[in-house]
Amino acid sequence: MECGLPWRLTCLAISIDLDERTNIVFELRDVSRAYKLGGQEITALSHVSLKFPDHSFTIVLGPSGSGKSTLLNLLGGLDRPTSGEVRFNGLNVAQFNNDQLASFRRHHVGTVFQSYHLLPHLTALENVELALSMDSGSERHHRAQQLLEEVGLADRLHNRPAELSGGEQQRVAVARALAHNPSILLADEPTGNLDSVARREIMGLLHKLHDEGYTVIIITHNEELVTEHDRIVRLHDGEVVKDSAPPLARDAVVEENSPIVTVKTRLGWSWWMALRNMVRSKPRTLLTAVGTAIGIGSIVLTVAFGTGLRHNANQSLAQNGGLNTVEVLGRIPSGATSSTVNEPNPLTSSDIAHFQKLSGVASAYAVVSVPVMIHGKSIVAAMLTSLPLAGLPNGQKLIAGHRPTSGNSVLLVQSGIKSLFGNTTPARAIGKSFVVENTTVLHPLAVTMTVAGILSPVEPTNQSSAPAGSVAKSSVALYLPYAVAVHSWAGHPPKFSQAIINGKNAAATVSITKTLSQQGFVVFSLRQIAKGIDTFVIIIQTVLGAFGGIALVVAGIMIALVMMWAVLERTREIGILKALGARAKDIRRIFIDEAALIGLLAGVIGLAGAYGVAVVLQAVLKTLIAKAGGTAPAVLFVIPWWLIVAALGFGMVVGIVGSWIPAFRASRLSVVEALRHNG
Ligand code: ADP
Repeated sequence: MECGLPWRLTCLAISIDLDERTNIVFELRDVSRAYKLGGQEITALSHVSLKFPDHSFTIVLGPSGSGKSTLLNLLGGLDRPTSGEVRFNGLNVAQFNNDQLASFRRHHVGTVFQSYHLLPHLTALENVELALSMDSGSERHHRAQQLLEEVGLADRLHNRPAELSGGEQQRVAVARALAHNPSILLADEPTGNLDSVARREIMGLLHKLHDEGYTVIIITHNEELVTEHDRIVRLHDGEVVKDSAPPLARDAVVEENSPIVTVKTRLGWSWWMALRNMVRSKPRTLLTAVGTAIGIGSIVLTVAFGTGLRHNANQSLAQNGGLNTVEVLGRIPSGATSSTVNEPNPLTSSDIAHFQKLSGVASAYAVVSVPVMIHGKSIVAAMLTSLPLAGLPNGQKLIAGHRPTSGNSVLLVQSGIKSLFGNTTPARAIGKSFVVENTTVLHPLAVTMTVAGILSPVEPTNQSSAPAGSVAKSSVALYLPYAVAVHSWAGHPPKFSQAIINGKNAAATVSITKTLSQQGFVVFSLRQIAKGIDTFVIIIQTVLGAFGGIALVVAGIMIALVMMWAVLERTREIGILKALGARAKDIRRIFIDEAALIGLLAGVIGLAGAYGVAVVLQAVLKTLIAKAGGTAPAVLFVIPWWLIVAALGFGMVVGIVGSWIPAFRASRLSVVEALRHNG
């Protein structure tokens, strides 16, 4: 069939079947776009109505400032009209939400720009891969290579833009525009920066793509690009002054089309981009991380110091008796207070029974302690004490014999053997007898007792607060079974100057101490002392931590500044990514993720630094304390696992908080403005 129409593809459509209805991909209905500039309104496009059929090749011609770029930006989903409708396959682009618009840009149109908009630090292959990287799939590398081969750049895959000619760069841009297999190719002055040879090559490439089925729309001011077959739309002052399309094409219809499906960006894309950006700006990343690390490190050091203090205090308290032990030293007489009492009333059996019934009590028993005289080899003063209900006093060990259970058999502390029996071994002392006389009662009571077992000596440091060990080192110490001591040595009715209560846990111990002191008992608890130390440590930690906190706030501000600078520096890149179909949230995530990664790195550096400082400080303090004649605790700084997790998490949080505003600013950048940015 003879076809006299200048517009090749319409002609092609008609030549196939005149009755076949041509599908319209783009339709502009009375579209206007105005810009506000310094209070003035500039009309870039005015009431433009155009249709672009499927598989068509259109050149939009016009002098500079005629509105060509504005038109192309509207078609490419980079901008929205002030009034009128831009329809893509019958769908109003203005009604697309931001994610749909991004999907539209990524999968339905490919755009080529006059200045190529390639990322200078990436090779040709990486530039094309970048577009493909947003979607999942392992074929990225292969597909990018294939696309570059198709545009004739098989041998330039690994060259960076600076190593490529203008024509080659534009071909990379074309390959990238085709990455997601769009049906439409938009080109904004694609040959504007090229010499005549490259110009012909690029136009040849665009014609070839059109022949392969793409709908191609080119805008240019260059009349030379036009061939007699092309459809030409002429713009002047924002208005269509000429359209060479035949009326039939203008009246073509729009087929029913399914709505734009929003495609999610591959999980981890933003992390991948963030990591690349970090590596790309190594010095800046490192400096920012080190700055932040100072804040994190000083807080880690403070907490490690406080934890170390607490650890040492608790350990030395635990050595002096259980932390869950409460000593009751009597009842406060009526009229006195815990601070004025000198001589508390002794405890009674019913007091002990009351202690045993308190909630949270693991065990409660009285301590009977009676000064006695022993008639052995000579007469010696001794202290007769009841054994605890379970275990041995003061953590001492049985070195011979067994624990007495009844009768008048006793445990003798090793140091007393000599005074009672002369030079003999612990094993030989077992079974020996002696007379014990109670000197505190009016009519002294003399009882014969037998040695059932020998206890290891009391450690001198344990004596101060040992509940049942208030025995001078040189004295002889005897331990009687609890029941016997209570029955025969505590008086009638029994009276006790001391009781020991073991709490089930820390909380129970604290509550027992509180309850008993409210009930008028004189109580003493190592847990209370530990709590006092904790309060002291918390005060020190908070004050020191506040300095670290200030450093951390400064670090957060520094990250914010660095990220703001990064947004400014990468504005054009943001525009490119958005033009390639990255969603606003993808852009936001890149910056937040980068800051979080910097924060994480800062956490690692901060921890390592704090560890190093702790090791050095520990060594220095040990030397200083040793010089002063003291013994330094084995560990001064303790970095528990939760502090490591907290430091890393904290670093990330500081990064995220610091980058929040810059990241939002980046995600809100208009594509067109960002692409125009000279950065
Ligand atoms: P062309 O691509 O044909 O050179 P443009 O579409 O770039 O034309 O611009 C058309 C008109 O709109 C020009 O007068 C230009 O100055 C104005 N214009 C384009 N973009 C903006 C903008 N972002 N802000 C203000 N004026 C703009």
